[in-house]
Amino acid sequence: MSANLQNPIFTDETKAREWLEARVWPHGIVCRHCGNADASRIASLKGKASRPGVYQCAECRQQFTVTVGTVFERSKIPLSKWLAALFLIVSSKKGISAHQVHRMLGISYKSTWFMMHRLREAMRSGDLAPLGGGGGTVEIDETVFGRIEGAPKKLGPGRSSFRNVALTLVERGGSARSFHIDSASIANMKPIIQANVAREAAIITDEWTAYREIGAAFKSHDTVNHSKDEYVRIEPEFVITTNTVEGFYSIFKRGMKGVYQHCGEKHLHRYLAEFDFRYSNRSALGVEDMERADKLAAGIVGKRLTYRRTNEA
Ligand SMILES: [Zn+2]
Repeated sequence: MSANLQNPIFTDETKAREWLEARVWPHGIVCRHCGNADASRIASLKGKASRPGVYQCAECRQQFTVTVGTVFERSKIPLSKWLAALFLIVSSKKGISAHQVHRMLGISYKSTWFMMHRLREAMRSGDLAPLGGGGGTVEIDETVFGRIEGAPKKLGPGRSSFRNVALTLVERGGSARSFHIDSASIANMKPIIQANVAREAAIITDEWTAYREIGAAFKSHDTVNHSKDEYVRIEPEFVITTNTVEGFYSIFKRGMKGVYQHCGEKHLHRYLAEFDFRYSNRSALGVEDMERADKLAAGIVGKRLTYRRTNEA
């Protein structure tokens, strides 16, 4: 299905709504107000209501739709276009520009830009379970990206605060979580790593001094010394390398360079969320485009992603 926009859910509002209802209510309609899930106590107002897809709950007597209270409802963009953009973003490995989506869907660039950022917002993980639980291995690394507006052109060695810094935690065989931080300092990294990595995890980092103190809290901490070209050291139990997290950054940077050249600093966390989402729901883990779309669509409704921060559109 990837970038194939022939599916009627991308052109027909009724089909789009039915598709979304099936994702949000896989076990039958649930009242969005009181949680009543008794189908006999929920009536479809089809034909009687001013617009299709309106239901009436006999428990709380309120009316609702599948999109009530979400960005889908308040937006002027048709639901079918939202779904098309959603499919494009989940199936484009290195991302897709608002310009391209704007051209493909025939909606204004401004609306497309807004829509893409709301989708990225919905991709932010609500998963609070720490990575590496049950003794997994978590590779941790940070990278610099772009240049902060107004910063001098001469850059310091790698970790200058003149550039945007991202911190990424990747569980081998699992998910990625990225954070936009001010600088790669202990003060910035320690609370994030402690909150997101399980104590029983084995962690692998480079030899940046900040990791020495941080690493002491975990089951084990091994380092790769990049300055000595020592990328892989084979130990009896597991391979000491940060190739996984570096692979993540390589996809991220290629996408940011090719598609999102003009990423404002204040939006970086959303782009990171987008790459985290696709990585954490990747084919290698058995998640295909369709499933990624299901997950994101249900997430938008479930998180009640609203129309806030409209000033950005
Ligand atoms: Zn109700």
